[in-house]
Amino acid sequence: MAQTIPRQDGFEEFFRALRAARESALLLDYDGTLAPFRIDPGTALPYPGVCEQLNRIMRQGRTRVVLVTGRWIKDLLPLLDLDCMPEIWGSHGWEHLRPDGEYRTSTIREETLRPLLDADSWTGRIEAVGGRCEHKPAALAIHWRGLSPERVTVIRDIVREQWLWQRMDEHLVWHDFDGGIELRAPDTNKAHAVEAVLRELGVGTAVAYLGDDETDEDAFCALRGRGLGVLVRPAPRPSGADLWLQPPHELLQFLQQWHNAHEV
Ligand SMILES: [Mg+2]
Repeated sequence: MAQTIPRQDGFEEFFRALRAARESALLLDYDGTLAPFRIDPGTALPYPGVCEQLNRIMRQGRTRVVLVTGRWIKDLLPLLDLDCMPEIWGSHGWEHLRPDGEYRTSTIREETLRPLLDADSWTGRIEAVGGRCEHKPAALAIHWRGLSPERVTVIRDIVREQWLWQRMDEHLVWHDFDGGIELRAPDTNKAHAVEAVLRELGVGTAVAYLGDDETDEDAFCALRGRGLGVLVRPAPRPSGADLWLQPPHELLQFLQQWHNAHEV
């Protein structure tokens, strides 16, 4: 599908439909969407006002709020200051936590798991030049945010060398993201989470997905024809999203309008 630059106007039509809808679902990426990037992801708290807006929306009881993140869910929970537990899909759709606490993960094949476990034999070289390696249930993320272009090149070369040497492409998928590389089990992406949520929604439910990164393109694609895809970034880029907004001001406006639409 050809990608185009999403527009910055056209939200009115969606909010008209939201006002008319009995139910709604608001799917949200976390890093770069609800929270600014930080070199230490453990300090990436949501933009001021975001949790308050989400609390107000959830209190209304008319919106299924779903966080869809590449993070391990256990790493996201300490950053959220929410009155109620939202639904969370973590590790790019590999794990699922419902508001009632029910937690499920997908299975992972042994041949997929092996190169992820064996990565300890080479990730020290990345950490030696300042990179950060994050082990997740079904992926290895290599972060270089804040490093010089020269160091990023060194890290990328190490990953590529290991990728080829160990023939990881037979079992894993390479994903570039904003600030690093993720080597991930196949069939694990945010479209999986979006499709699972869509299957449970009634006809006429108004749906939107907000995301910033390349990993959100799978979600935008899965939502096409069923809901509104919103790219959340300081500047637009080619995307499968329908519309674009700039965080944090326009994000807060969007959440406020979402709340207002269910007040009438
Ligand atoms: Mg993101």
